[in-house]
Amino acid sequence: MPKEPDFIHDLNEQQRRAVRHGEGPLLIVAGAGSGKTRVLTYRIAYLIHQNMAAPNEILALTFTNKAAKEMQERIGQLIGEEAKRLWMGTFHSVFSKILRYEAEKIGFNSDYSIYDTEDSKNAIKQILRENNYDPKEIKPRILQRRISDAKNELINPDHYGEKFVHSTLDDITARIYKIYVERLKHNNAMDFDDLLIKPIELFNEHPDTLEKYQDRFKYIMIDEYQDTNHAQYKVTNMLASKYENLCVVGDDAQSIYSFRGADISNILDFKSDYEDAVEIPLEQNYRSTKAILKAADSIIKNNSKQLDKTLWTDNDMGDTITVLDNYDERDEANRVANYIQDLKMRKGYDYNDFAILYRTNYQSRVFEETFRRKGITYQLVGGLSFYQRKEIKDVLAYLTLLINPEDDTNLMRIINEPSRGIGQKSLSDLMNRARQTGQSLWRILENVEEADVYKPAENSVKDFVRMINSLKQQLANGRSLVEVTKQLLDESGYMKSLVEENSPKSMTRRENILELQNAISYFEKNNDNATLSSFLQEISLITDTDKYDEEKPAVTMMTVHAAKGLEFPVVFIVGLEEELFPVGSRNNEDVNIEEERRLFYVAITRAEQELFFSHCRSRYKYGEEQRKTRSRFLDEVSSDVVRTETGSSINQDKNRFSGKKNSSPNNGDTKVEYDWKKPLYDKNNRSSHTQIHYDNPDEDPFQVGAKVIHNVFGQGKIIS
Ligand code: ATP
Ligand code: MG
Repeated sequence: MPKEPDFIHDLNEQQRRAVRHGEGPLLIVAGAGSGKTRVLTYRIAYLIHQNMAAPNEILALTFTNKAAKEMQERIGQLIGEEAKRLWMGTFHSVFSKILRYEAEKIGFNSDYSIYDTEDSKNAIKQILRENNYDPKEIKPRILQRRISDAKNELINPDHYGEKFVHSTLDDITARIYKIYVERLKHNNAMDFDDLLIKPIELFNEHPDTLEKYQDRFKYIMIDEYQDTNHAQYKVTNMLASKYENLCVVGDDAQSIYSFRGADISNILDFKSDYEDAVEIPLEQNYRSTKAILKAADSIIKNNSKQLDKTLWTDNDMGDTITVLDNYDERDEANRVANYIQDLKMRKGYDYNDFAILYRTNYQSRVFEETFRRKGITYQLVGGLSFYQRKEIKDVLAYLTLLINPEDDTNLMRIINEPSRGIGQKSLSDLMNRARQTGQSLWRILENVEEADVYKPAENSVKDFVRMINSLKQQLANGRSLVEVTKQLLDESGYMKSLVEENSPKSMTRRENILELQNAISYFEKNNDNATLSSFLQEISLITDTDKYDEEKPAVTMMTVHAAKGLEFPVVFIVGLEEELFPVGSRNNEDVNIEEERRLFYVAITRAEQELFFSHCRSRYKYGEEQRKTRSRFLDEVSSDVVRTETGSSINQDKNRFSGKKNSSPNNGDTKVEYDWKKPLYDKNNRSSHTQIHYDNPDEDPFQVGAKVIHNVFGQGKIIS
């Protein structure tokens, strides 16, 4: 074995033990910032350096594609070019690649489409209609959620039908689930969940294929193991069962995806699954000041069950954590902005040293407005991602059709987009014919003259088929992707219709499409053998978090969920109010307070040097100003590491807190009367009135459908 590399000395004793651990299962459960990710990175580099494994024999699974890329870059710095041959990525991206090689074995072809959540919902909606359910009554979103949960629990449609039917909705779910699975297969499409469960199916049915991948991936590493779900657990167990060289790292206190089926028992079961598993603790935190760690610890202690762990740091005590007590969300954004400018000037921070973390995406809006006004550059991570925009999804649907014409869902999306005179009636005739004959919609279109539809529609269909076939031909002839895309946009009339519409919205759409062309040509330039299929696969797995750019000189704004695994010198956790963080309503038993608390723990432990908490006394909701109480979590933080700073807009106007009724001093025009001393939800005050939000003051406000806020019952809607 070669002499140990120098980089082994970048680690502490416990970390070195984990890195040197050779064969056999290894479990690392350790607190935030203790170097779990660093250990994985160094361990991979070490195994290669010591010739214990070739790069392509190592599989590393991370929570985001971006995390994988960073890890790979770091390994590249440690051992050089070889790092390029590692298998790294999210579960979804790694398994979608494997499925592409093996698709035929499970009845798909390698150019299968990948459906995102919206595509799945559309497919479900279509199925509901075909089966005479009203998608307004039976919500596709809810069925999609239920089907997805079932899939991740590895419950197949037959099993679901037998075991889980207790209510009408269960019954419908069972029916639709079955059809949905058949439909996707028919469409040669897989949804996100399939990317995890189809490999299990593949490996179960083809032990030789399983063995091939077991031999391929001699070493498997998983980061953020606390957030794997049952399917992920299962598939990695299958892969690791031959050599048992499975190394997982995680922190039970940071498990924040149980709503997506993440299962903490995966960590707990590890030791029983692998009896000779070695467990190594990591106890030194390198990320945060003592004050920040103390705050984190005082929070998480309030949860009932946690694994035993020690976490300490050699870092300084650091500054006290500041709680910003704000008047409202504008006040909050202003004060955060002022702090950023001040810290930047006084302590020499750059904009990219700052992060603003919130519970829900919509909270970014006021920050964005304020920052724009103050000239603070920022980057927003999350929200509607570029690839989910309508126009982008349309173009991608066209492109998908060129390689996977069996995909009815994508075909339906664009067959009359832009309008080419194929009306609803003709379409549903064609679709019915497809269902009756068991053929794909595309086959029906190809032989449209047999279908007996309205003549002008028939002609349009013929033109459409001709266009798609000619584009396919050009792809086959090796014309570049970007050229084919341009021609598609031109011949389909898609660009023309945007230009003709000539609205600000259509111009933005046009720009987005041009940006997509840039993405395609970038992809072609940077990938040897770039195919349309590989392009579509790559972009369908891009997630919001992958867009975050550390180098960009800008303040980062993101949800706490998206911030997992990251670190920033200065962190602001904003909107720390009841019903926002923790999310949900006061008496809502569905809210998982322990998970919310873990989420708060994750947020706190992102901070390296300075940490701010912030909450508002009032906040706009549904156009009404609402009183807010500070989050219970703030009261749980050890009091010796925090100090509260009440905003000047609160102090200046003492009247506002004297119990008198006052108009809102908000900068906007909206005036709301409210009483600071009287709680919004006052059980003794049942006579309190209902506030109503309406756009036209001349109308009777108490109309069916109007949104109301009742002092006792909270927000609601008039139904009768
Ligand atoms: P999280 O639970 O948030 O995912 P983690 O346990 O994965 O955290 P890392 O991100 O690997 O922790 O490490 C936290 C920080 O500490 C990183 O900046 C890392 O480079 C640094 N670090 C870890 N170990 C050491 C060490 N031995 N010497 C110096 N810095 C270290
Ligand atoms: Mg980590």
